[in-house]
Amino acid sequence: MTCFTFVETFSLKVRKSNLSAFRNSFVHRFKVLPYKETCRNAFSSWRLEYGSQSNFSVPSTSLATEQHIVSSSSSALKEKLVEKGQKYKVKPIKKVLVANRGEIAVRIIRSCREMGIETVAIYSTADRNALHVALADETVCIGEPSSKKSYLDITSVLAAAEITGCLTTGADAVHPGYGFLSENSVFSSSCEEMGVTFIGPSPFAIDKMGDKSTAKETMLNAGVPCVPGSNGILSDAEEAVRIAENIGYPVLLKATAGGGGRGIKLARNSEELRSLYQMCSAEAQAAFGNGKLYLEKFVEAPRHVEIQVFADKYGNAIHLGERDCSIQRRNQKLVEEAPCPVMTEELRAKMGEAAVNAAKAINYCGAGTVEFLLSAAGEFYFMEMNTRIQVEHPITEQITGIDIVQLQLQIAEGRPLPYRQSDINLKGHAIEVRVNCEEPKDNFRPVPGQVSSLFVPGGLGIRWDSHIYPGYTIAPNYDSMIGKLIVWGPTRDQAIRKMKRALNEMNIVGVPSTIPLHRAIFNNEKFIQGKEIYTNFIETEDILSQVVG
Ligand code: ADP
Ligand code: ADP
Ligand code: MG
Repeated sequence: MTCFTFVETFSLKVRKSNLSAFRNSFVHRFKVLPYKETCRNAFSSWRLEYGSQSNFSVPSTSLATEQHIVSSSSSALKEKLVEKGQKYKVKPIKKVLVANRGEIAVRIIRSCREMGIETVAIYSTADRNALHVALADETVCIGEPSSKKSYLDITSVLAAAEITGCLTTGADAVHPGYGFLSENSVFSSSCEEMGVTFIGPSPFAIDKMGDKSTAKETMLNAGVPCVPGSNGILSDAEEAVRIAENIGYPVLLKATAGGGGRGIKLARNSEELRSLYQMCSAEAQAAFGNGKLYLEKFVEAPRHVEIQVFADKYGNAIHLGERDCSIQRRNQKLVEEAPCPVMTEELRAKMGEAAVNAAKAINYCGAGTVEFLLSAAGEFYFMEMNTRIQVEHPITEQITGIDIVQLQLQIAEGRPLPYRQSDINLKGHAIEVRVNCEEPKDNFRPVPGQVSSLFVPGGLGIRWDSHIYPGYTIAPNYDSMIGKLIVWGPTRDQAIRKMKRALNEMNIVGVPSTIPLHRAIFNNEKFIQGKEIYTNFIETEDILSQVVG
């Protein structure tokens, strides 16, 4: 017997000549409501309703076959139904422990609430008054302000899961967000061992991609184009110099465990490379607990273009288009937009296919992002894969209409992907700016403090994902990002006008922010034109000198 549990309503068109076979195959066993029995042509349409409480058993030998079903409103489900003997193990999630803080914790709680799923917030003593704590159904204090003693402490996070009952019901899950434990395979496997679903890929997939040097090897084997560089980890500075002489300077030394734009150093010649090597390794050891380095050719003036992928537990994988994140400071994203202004249908298909292949190569499951560098000549190279939700996921949501957190939860429950590639339509243009409490003119120095007052813009097509509120005191212990301002417009031009309007209205009092910097970016002609933006934009356009206020 094969057991199906669906919580979807969809219609099926069945060839009349096959009606009896269709009925015999599964109509009787499912709760099937005749939809339009009087049909003009040779087809009969049916509406099938599967409630969350429905759990029907069908002998796998009597499943419908392709010829019985002509069309279905849910193509992925149709595909699944005709796969003989395919088994979905759906385990509905009732409660989610959010193993994060800040805007992403708030973002996750919001989707859970809309899905009728209970939430548990964890927090450090510095976050007692945090918004995610106020919004969650249950809260647990897990330790001291330092991340190591709270949000990065696996034992404390799992203890919080235990005291809130998450380890015993079999219907609970942990959402790791981004940063912190999101790409930690020890954490994800511990969750699974303790009986709580980890909302993310397998520990194997995390390990394959978490180590950036290993990830490149895996991708080369899967036929995905990569930036030329060392084959794996460097043994010492001399090996780095030998490889650099071969591929040509300038080169980048990169920490294999790096992330968030940190752990990357540029060397223009052998002296620089030799002198940077030890420092880079020591810094990586201190920051990521892993000093191993690899080497990559420095691609001059590239765009950063990344593909959002999604895969289910049954081997289906699709992409939700790209995001252009070329506006960066110190290799970290400041502004992201979707679609990429220089994208063509042909290139999107090629990059999308490469990204989906990357996901399939490691049996990926859930949401992931494959990051590429796109050269001015239109060549693209794999850089890394982030095996988690991305900061800039909202712009993809805006142009696809898909709630990415909700889809992550559905996949984690064991449901098949509800879309095929051809179901994904990109509509309009979305842009996000990262609002950080930093002093842009003082080398982006973080300046935490109290938000004494706050005015947030509104209106059609404007979204503000944030955890700050008037009177909130930003803790100095964590990331300086305090919100993401997101706009959607039918065209790039309209989205830019909307962002300019929103940036003018936005008013954060009490702490400095990157808002004045964003105003300068959105006044820049090259940015508005969009065709010649590269990752060095902030420097080449000398944006900092144009920041007012
Ligand atoms: P995205 O790739 O989603 O755009 P970032 O690279 O800006 O996001 O990283 C998101 C958050 O995760 C930041 O707070 C960053 O500091 C943190 N982060 C990412 N990778 C790592 C890592 N390897 N080690 C520590 N923190 C990381
Ligand atoms: P992180 O893990 O910190 O996100 P990435 O490897 O994704 O690090 O690189 C971050 C940024 O650094 C990229 O978006 C890009 O701007 C720049 N970068 C990385 N590798 C290269 C390269 N080989 N050539 C040029 N720029 C690069
Ligand atoms: Mg990256």
